[in-house]
Amino acid sequence: ALKISDTCINCDACPAECPNDAIAMGSMIYEINHERCTECVGHYDEPQCVAVCPVECIVKDPARAETPEQLQAKFERLQAA
Ligand code: SF4
Ligand code: SF4
Repeated sequence: ALKISDTCINCDACPAECPNDAIAMGSMIYEINHERCTECVGHYDEPQCVAVCPVECIVKDPARAETPEQLQAKFERLQAA
C-alpha cells in the first residue's frame, strides 16, 4: 500500500482519483486506508493519486510492502466484496 506523508497540503485532488475509494480526510491530513489500496493494481498502470498529487507526498509505505501478486489478490478480494 501507499501512504500519504505529512507534507500533504490537503489540496483535495487525490480522493476522487482513487478507484478503490481508499483515500479520506484524517484528523490532520488525507490518509490512505491500507486495506483498500492496491497501488492501483487491477485498475491502472500507475498509482492515480501519485499522478495528481502536486507536492509528491504519496510514497510506498515501508511497513506495508506488498508484491504485485499480493496487490492483485487484494484487488480481487475488493472486487468480490
Ligand atoms: Fe487509491 Fe491507487 Fe492511490 Fe492506492 S495508489 S490510494 S488504490 S489511487
Ligand atoms: Fe494531499 Fe497530495 Fe492528496 Fe493533495 S493530492 S490531498 S497534497 S496527498
